[in-house]
Amino acid sequence: MTTDAQAGTVLIRNIDETARTPVKMDGVQGATMAVMVGRADGAPHFAMRQFAVEPGGHTPRHRHDYEHEVYVVSGTGTVFLGGRENPVRGGDVIYVPANEEHQFRSTQDQAGPLRFLCMVPVEQNCGGPVPGS
Ligand code: MN
Repeated sequence: MTTDAQAGTVLIRNIDETARTPVKMDGVQGATMAVMVGRADGAPHFAMRQFAVEPGGHTPRHRHDYEHEVYVVSGTGTVFLGGRENPVRGGDVIYVPANEEHQFRSTQDQAGPLRFLCMVPVEQNCGGPVPGS
């Protein structure tokens, strides 16, 4: 069930039925994103995006002035965080503080894509909209 996108409207949306678009940033490979809930739905503060990174693929290594709260749904991989690569798998929660360099990599194995949810504020600290929120 979904409802019209407007402020204050309830929404139930399935992760498997939400359109994905390729992530287009320098340094990305084999990653798609779908905004599960965000500004377009009238959410005033938080956005939840889902990412799928194909085995062997990765997100760009980058940093920004807002935090991420990440939940790994499935797959195996590594996250560059705290200056090193850390193994991650389904069920892991990752907190990426603002201005911390980070990158997600999907292991080249039979576990399928690394799928994770990534929560962000809809606005950056300086007031601009967070990309993909
Ligand atoms: Mn990021």
